[in-house]
Amino acid sequence: MNLILLGPPGSGKGTQAKILVKNLGLVQLSTGDMLREAVKSGSDIGRKVAKIMDAGELVTDEIINSLIREKLKSKNSGFIFDGYPRTLNQADSLEEQLDQAGASVDMVIELTVDVDQLIDRIVGRLSCVNCGAMFHKNNQPPKVEGICDVCGSDLIQRKDDNEESFRTRLLEYYQKTAPLTGYYHRAGLLQYVSSVGSIEEISERIEATIQAS
Ligand code: ADP
Ligand code: ZN
Repeated sequence: MNLILLGPPGSGKGTQAKILVKNLGLVQLSTGDMLREAVKSGSDIGRKVAKIMDAGELVTDEIINSLIREKLKSKNSGFIFDGYPRTLNQADSLEEQLDQAGASVDMVIELTVDVDQLIDRIVGRLSCVNCGAMFHKNNQPPKVEGICDVCGSDLIQRKDDNEESFRTRLLEYYQKTAPLTGYYHRAGLLQYVSSVGSIEEISERIEATIQAS
């Protein structure tokens, strides 16, 4: 099965994707994580996208689609797509690539949130430099300050996790990504799951939704 997680920045896609990987044995494909890797390694792509990401704008479809194409070369099912697709062009490209391999998008879950809560989630967020695990200064602090519970590496605040970049990310989301809701609804694939509550409550809702379909 291939599952897409949709939802605005801060809705918990990354956190929930990591839980689904553990519980359902799916492989997470996060374009955000892939791009941050590219920035860290200083590759050509990394140098091109760093400023765009820090500002909270979307990277070009061309770059994103080629990153995903690489990943789908050896395997075309069992993925959880997190932060991708983010535009209609990316959704078309994904469908085409899966189609060629005889696979498909099987379910799309949109995490719904109260927009007022997002800003607090984002500006208090701490991310592991190594494994991408996420914590929150107040709502979900790590056991040892500044250190990842999962792998022991340092926690940082992402450069785009500030109020100004967040506003841009939210605007990008409403303008370019929100239309995907209609696209997947029409395809009969869309399910809504409330992303309000504890991380465990939300993951239980997601798993129940998957099981019920
Ligand atoms: P979040 O969902 O918390 O906003 P991500 O880690 O998914 O963050 O993405 C961080 C940034 O990476 C985005 O703001 C954007 O610049 C870039 N990015 C990630 N995925 C995509 C994509 N599918 N299309 C375009 N840009 C992307
Ligand atoms: Zn870690």
